[in-house]
Amino acid sequence: MLKVIRIEKSLFEENEKLAKEVREILNEKNILSFNVMGSPGSGKTLFIEKTIENLKEKFNFAVIEGDVEGVIDAEKFKKFNIPVIQINTGGGCHLDANMVKIGISEIKIDEIDILFVENVGNLICPAEFDIGTEKNIVVSSITEGNDKVLKYPLIFKFSDICILNKVDLLPYSEFDFEKFENDLKKISPETILIKLSSKTGENFFEWIEYLRRLKKGKK
Ligand code: MG
Ligand code: ZN
Repeated sequence: MLKVIRIEKSLFEENEKLAKEVREILNEKNILSFNVMGSPGSGKTLFIEKTIENLKEKFNFAVIEGDVEGVIDAEKFKKFNIPVIQINTGGGCHLDANMVKIGISEIKIDEIDILFVENVGNLICPAEFDIGTEKNIVVSSITEGNDKVLKYPLIFKFSDICILNKVDLLPYSEFDFEKFENDLKKISPETILIKLSSKTGENFFEWIEYLRRLKKGKK
């Protein structure tokens, strides 16, 4: 099922209240939920696809896709035969809790174990809007360079998990992993760092194991 909804952004003040409502709805149904943020091209969609591919026999997934326009990413989930809600923000550069609340109202959430919300590709304002999910993830990739933590500290502070993606490209880049790791520790010591490649599957199991533990903790 793929459904497209167009929603303009709501007021900042309303957001906290709506995020709380979303959180309550998801918690009541025992759904593990993720807000996946990161710049365009960091590999958010493929990261979600590979996660579902790994665990589709174990859990029922749903995806809410946030984009300014179009259904390009949402269509990639067709192969899984799962509920996918595309939210088009019509120019808005982030998702807010109202959009997610409307999104989940379109899903039969009784049947869902894990929900992924892919935010609009942007390292800035998604970090200012709690959308009511349980965990915030920032996907950053080797190809973006190792200065992102210092340049966009807010989104790294806001994130419980940092996925450092595209490690398969490490041999072809000047990426300084130690610097990235140290910057993250300094800016946001609580954020868990997992480096992997969604494309080759390198170290992907570390993320899968982490997710399984999170899911177990809910039961
Ligand atoms: Mg995407
Ligand atoms: Zn924005």
